[in-house]
Amino acid sequence: MDPSTSTSFSSPTEQLPTTSGINVTGIDTSARLPSLEGLFKNNIVLTLRPGLDLWKGLGVGLTVLRQGIVLGTTALRRRMLVTLEINNKDRSYEWFLAWMAHQTNIVAKQKLRSAPWIRSHQLSVETILEQRKNGSSSALFKLVAGPGTHWFRYRGAWMQVKRERETRSMQLMSGVPWETVTLTTLSRDRTLFPQLLSEARDLAMRGQEGKLVIHTAWGIEWKPFGLPRRKRPLQSVVLKPGVGERIEQDITSFLNRRQWYADRGIPYRRGYLLHGPPGSGKTSFIQALAGSLNYDICLLNLSERGLADDKLNHLLSNAPERSFVLIEDIDAAFNKRVQTSEDGYQSSVTFSGFLNALDGVASGEERIVFMTTNHIEKLDPALIRPGRVDMSELIDDSSANQARVLFTRFYGDSEDMEEPEVEELANILETIVIEETESGRKVSMAALQGLFIRSKAKDAIARCRELFVSRQP
Ligand code: ADP
Repeated sequence: MDPSTSTSFSSPTEQLPTTSGINVTGIDTSARLPSLEGLFKNNIVLTLRPGLDLWKGLGVGLTVLRQGIVLGTTALRRRMLVTLEINNKDRSYEWFLAWMAHQTNIVAKQKLRSAPWIRSHQLSVETILEQRKNGSSSALFKLVAGPGTHWFRYRGAWMQVKRERETRSMQLMSGVPWETVTLTTLSRDRTLFPQLLSEARDLAMRGQEGKLVIHTAWGIEWKPFGLPRRKRPLQSVVLKPGVGERIEQDITSFLNRRQWYADRGIPYRRGYLLHGPPGSGKTSFIQALAGSLNYDICLLNLSERGLADDKLNHLLSNAPERSFVLIEDIDAAFNKRVQTSEDGYQSSVTFSGFLNALDGVASGEERIVFMTTNHIEKLDPALIRPGRVDMSELIDDSSANQARVLFTRFYGDSEDMEEPEVEELANILETIVIEETESGRKVSMAALQGLFIRSKAKDAIARCRELFVSRQP
């Protein structure tokens, strides 16, 4: 956040103290406002000669009076009011709008009359879409103050909110129109601005606590996508013994060696490649690991329309702090060196551009990239060389032991089965997996999970052989 450019107070003739994250500047308005004296001298010639029409004189007098009143109120307004401008480049912009939307929720919950600002006739809807991997999605609507003027009361003070959208120019690269929200209140209530902003920030942070935030690229910027998700416990992703622990240990040791890298002038970055068949838990593990380390995920789609080498480079070197960049199905992106989507669109990201972006400029900034692929054999060796991929792990189809652990997780505490019975069924499942694997057939953890979700334990065991498929070597 660059508070000096985006969030600023303006109040007349004085310098306000700088509060955390907010730049407070003063404007001397006296220089701008022409004095009444000057007005008389320069603009209006008042020469009432005898015999001149009295009405004309009166008209001039009224004009002067009106101008005087206008100037007087402007001066008074400037002297008595303080404004705070927040533009949509600044993070507090979203926090503030969300805070306003939250006020409506409180009002609704407490069955109060509507929040003052909701009476305004200019509302905008913000739709939050959640697309899940199984294809289902949900949408959430949030009513926020639309472009226009709104009023609300905060800690006893009235505030005016003006949301304005610049329709003629867009933010370079992201294509989002410029917007500003200007808050105005009485000068004596200026201390409420930092309080309000802190409240809005805390509200936003609270919403993310214990949650995983997924960011996606918007032009050259990263923006949170959908609502923060509940973190998934790391142990809920069942991998072969040792695999998860190895990755976790590697990343923790990397995170503890920032100084070591700095002392040797080595770029502080690490690349991981998780490969293996679909539905084996690659993405789930990366997300759970991010959650356990309190990291966010930046989802990078290399075939995104409009993404070119320069933007990719920018995105990779400007990921939000404490985040993993996740690039899924990396084999699909470059198996023909140029990515072509179904409708013939060719991504402008080139393979060499991608490698350059991965190598990046040597900087002290931390960067952790996770890549996944179902076909490691299709990857260009240039991509998986150390420095780009420092650790590569196979996340395979279910082993007998993984199937057993998943089964007992699902049915272990069910009320209609005693522990010995669960154990017995788990043994049968293990035997089935061993037999099927020996005959070259495998089952993904995702398929087992699906079966366990929809079946009772005994039915699941009876039907699980149907899920095994031959895997091409
Ligand atoms: P991949 O990225 O390997 O294709 P995902 O992580 O997307 O697989 O897994 C798809 C679904 O299957 C998820 O809902 C996940 O919960 C489940 N799943 C897959 N592998 C595992 C695993 N090893 N342990 C627990 N659940 C798994």
